[in-house]
Amino acid sequence: MNEPIEFYRHALPKSTAAAVEAVIASPFLTSGSVCKRVEGMLCEFFGASHAFLTSSWTNGAIAALLALDIGPGDEVIVPAQTFIATANVVELVGATPIFVDVDPHTLLMSAEAAAGAVTERTRAVIPVHLYGQMCDIAGLRKALGPSRGIAIIEDAAHAFESSRDGELPGSHSDVAIFSFYATKNVTCGEGGAIITNRADLAQRMHSTRLHGMSKGAADRFQGGRYNHWDMTLLGTKANLPDLLAALLPDQIGSIRERLPERQAMANRYRDAFRGLPVRLPELLPGCSTAEHLFPIHVPPAQRDWAISKLNAGGINVTVNYRSVPDTSYYREKYGFRPEQFPVSYEWGEGEITLPLYERLTADEQERVIAAVRNLADEIAFREDKSAAITGAR
Ligand SMILES: *Cc1c(COP(=O)(O)O)cnc(C)c1O
Repeated sequence: MNEPIEFYRHALPKSTAAAVEAVIASPFLTSGSVCKRVEGMLCEFFGASHAFLTSSWTNGAIAALLALDIGPGDEVIVPAQTFIATANVVELVGATPIFVDVDPHTLLMSAEAAAGAVTERTRAVIPVHLYGQMCDIAGLRKALGPSRGIAIIEDAAHAFESSRDGELPGSHSDVAIFSFYATKNVTCGEGGAIITNRADLAQRMHSTRLHGMSKGAADRFQGGRYNHWDMTLLGTKANLPDLLAALLPDQIGSIRERLPERQAMANRYRDAFRGLPVRLPELLPGCSTAEHLFPIHVPPAQRDWAISKLNAGGINVTVNYRSVPDTSYYREKYGFRPEQFPVSYEWGEGEITLPLYERLTADEQERVIAAVRNLADEIAFREDKSAAITGAR
């Protein structure tokens, strides 16, 4: 049998090792000059006025929610089709996630659907740029109305190098949050970043990211002497160590020039699957997607069988994602039923994510394509057979 094809392999450049060694040779391993430098790169990359590196998307989002003073009694609108973390952070600060179903063509939360879920308790909306295609944040801002004081927190975990109508994440929101988790397009194993153009929020997040302290470790020793700090609001521990931040500059510096290759790889899949009985999310004009993941959708009754067929052929795949309100925690806590979020549920029951990463070779991608084509033939056959059985009943 052929070598198995991994779901993901990182593509850290060789120069990374030297950057990590330089941190090891420095006195402190945690947040310091490397983080400052990367935060500067992020401000420049996104045209944002403030950036903070965090230990994960999740911890960054908690720091942002604390800075916005969102907690018990407050509602935060989230899409039903996303990774669980998007909703979990709302639960973790004691607020209530309000799920809305996604658009059946793009799987994104629409501005209208989000605006339709607003109540007098709504404090924020977390749109998710699922798989890399960006939601309409300018439209969402307009739909929410300027006077309502509802914050927009972009979940840009899939969208580091994405744009929509030429605009980048963070352009129309209060905060945009990125993830540098192990499988993301830019990665340091575990990590994340928050960007904002709001000076008031930046000041608060500076502190909610670090216990609520008024000064970080580097600031406490500024000017060659010890400087006292205070705590004025409750924070979490979400800063990123320099040791991990050192993995980022070379990746950030080259990510835009690497994007066309990733997009070409995704388009090779799209071309190969045209006409097959597998569904793909629709791409919108004006969107340049980071192609973070390549999802396909098969009839839900065939999904687990399809995964085992792919696995048997040495192809590692994942599911991104089962509908969040259909996980046991949310179902049991809120009594959700699948038919409340039918699009998200149906997508989540039939979704399979194929390998898509820079180090995937052309031969490996051909093997994946061939396997999906075979699968498609068998799916068509199995669907006919089950239809015949149902019809005979
Ligand atoms: C990966 C991911 C997160 C969580 O990121 P972490 O850095 O692991 O906390 C949140 N939202 C989405 C859409 C993700 O894919």
